Amino acid sequence: MSTNGCKYALVTGASRGIGRATALALSRMGYPIIINYLSNEEAAQECAALIKAQGGDAELLQFDVSKEDAIEQAIAQWEESHPNDWIEVLVNNAGVRKDNLMIFMPADDWNTIINLHLNAFFFITRRLLKNMVSHRYGRIVNVVSLSGIKGLPGQTNYAAAKAGIIAAGKALAQEVGKRGVTVNAVAPGYIKTDMTSDLDETQLKALIPVNRFGTAEEVADVVAFLASPKASYITGEVISINGGLYT
Ligand code: NAP
Repeated sequence: MSTNGCKYALVTGASRGIGRATALALSRMGYPIIINYLSNEEAAQECAALIKAQGGDAELLQFDVSKEDAIEQAIAQWEESHPNDWIEVLVNNAGVRKDNLMIFMPADDWNTIINLHLNAFFFITRRLLKNMVSHRYGRIVNVVSLSGIKGLPGQTNYAAAKAGIIAAGKALAQEVGKRGVTVNAVAPGYIKTDMTSDLDETQLKALIPVNRFGTAEEVADVVAFLASPKASYITGEVISINGGLYT
């Protein structure tokens, strides 16, 4: 549904986990939400239903963030059906892990993770920047990771991709600051989602000063703050949400 001149928030990977919680939080700020997902349409529909249940608006936009053509096609289609609307908030959140020690890592797993995180950041953000710059307002929040700050063994691909997004975000923040567009990152530690369901929380929580995994909602609250006008003087920043785990 399209209201004239409406400002939207696009959250990639919003069907589940941190993305879903972020979509709900941005909706409570008044944004109609574009829910991107890869293949789990049922979960994406569930997210839309939750948004509508709290009085918001949401629509689904399926595309694979690791594919430049799919990004272009989906966004162009969305723009065609929303001629007067624009995307004011972009949360680059979609992600997966493909962990392995580097010595055993297939090139495919390296490339998949770089495409899915770093290249997705580049292609989606570049596509939406023009509108933000011309409206002299925009918010870009990248969901990165503790791994992209300190590196974690088994994650050379993922750590490189997340660190790349952090650095690119800092550079971009300096390019677009004058135009009212901010670019920040949140770096979660261990958060309870499908992505970490294979990890043993009982064992790992001993390493975490607050003694538990975080929740998707705790990450979403920080993303929502960075996406708000209140965060206008914060840009090029990385905020850790990790229960005090050493970074
Ligand atoms: P999750 O619960 O596994 O959800 C992943 C989301 O990404 C799903 O919505 C999934 O869509 C979507 N997705 C995956 N590949 C995609 C693709 N190629 N194109 C479009 N969407 C895709 O993960 P999460 O834990 O919320 O993670 C969200 C972000 O936080 C990721 O960037 C992750 O690296 C980061 N992070 C998570 C943790 C943690 O502890 N959980 C820690 C640090 C950083 P479908 O439902 O269609 O599959």
